Amino acid sequence: MLTRSALLYLARQEKLKDFAARFSLFRNLTTRFIAGDGIDEAVKAIRDLNAMGCTASFDHLNESVANAAETEGEVREYLDILEQIDQTGIKSNVSIKLTQFGLEIDPELAYRNARQVVVDAARRGNFVRIDMESSVVTQVTIDIFKRLRAEFGLNDVGIVLQSYLRRTYDDAQDLLQIPARIRICKGAYNEPPEVAFPDKKDVDENYIRVMKLLLSSGTYHGIATHDPNMINATIRYARDEGIGKEAFEFQMLYGIRRNLQEQLARDGYNMRVYVPYGKHWYPYFMRRLAERPANIWFVMKNLWK
Ligand SMILES: Cc1cc2nc3c(=O)[nH]c(=O)nc-3n(C[C@H](O)[C@H](O)[C@H](O)COP(=O)(O)OP(=O)(O)OC[C@H]3O[C@@H](n4cnc5c(N)ncnc54)[C@H](O)[C@@H]3O)c2cc1C
Repeated sequence: MLTRSALLYLARQEKLKDFAARFSLFRNLTTRFIAGDGIDEAVKAIRDLNAMGCTASFDHLNESVANAAETEGEVREYLDILEQIDQTGIKSNVSIKLTQFGLEIDPELAYRNARQVVVDAARRGNFVRIDMESSVVTQVTIDIFKRLRAEFGLNDVGIVLQSYLRRTYDDAQDLLQIPARIRICKGAYNEPPEVAFPDKKDVDENYIRVMKLLLSSGTYHGIATHDPNMINATIRYARDEGIGKEAFEFQMLYGIRRNLQEQLARDGYNMRVYVPYGKHWYPYFMRRLAERPANIWFVMKNLWK
């Protein structure tokens, strides 16, 4: 059986990423987790989610972009998404990755590219969430976020923290001072024990600590998880503290725990679904397999369909 770290190792193989993007055969395997190749398919998926009572966040799949010209294409794609959101009237914001905008080439390039998207989102009254990637870029991602947040409003740009990182509780306290809108998730990368808790129990405990800090802060945050224990702990804490359902949102990934997404929306919670699309699906897809290796069998069955 392939382990989580083996799958995450494969997720980082750039050659496999390019190989996978070229062969449409593989795309059939990914339909559960990825809305499609183009914006139109993502818009359609988001319309369906909106009809179910959920909002969304567009994610144009790409990361670790090593070519400055390609990062310009990523900016254009996001400007197009923001335009499409306004034209179609769908309820969605956008999620970006700084390595998609050139962070590994030059942090200034990533900042300038991200800024272009935030300018356009702010002008339209929309919101940009900066995803969090591996711990190698945690600090620079926070630094760029802080620069953007100093220029733009609370409701223009937000960030993500990962409860598996030992530093996250302190980061959350620090960012809440600004204040900042935070998405808390468990974290999806392969991290050494010096920086991340190796045991799920500690990751979950930290998640709940940070969730409580966020909910009590009075700012609108995203509680991103498919874990019923985390969701129930959030519901209980909000109820006990008299925090209204409108004061935060749950977030889940496209194709994962759809029934729970629908149920939470029906129960009156704000429910946002992260909708990835595009041809560079490989690393994202592999991280989803790593979270639940049983998904490999689900994917294999699709291959023979
Ligand atoms: C909206 C959103 C945005 C995210 N953004 C980031 C980010 O910016 N940076 C980052 O590092 N990570 C991000 N993640 C991923 C996150 O860090 C976790 O890897 C992922 O959510 C799995 O953790 P969990 O909280 O669902 O709990 P887990 O303990 O992993 O899972 C709990 C249960 O959820 C279900 N489940 C979880 N994952 C899957 C799956 N892949 N397939 C099928 N069932 C599954 C299973 O039933 C599992 O038992 C994001 C997640 C969400 C929901």
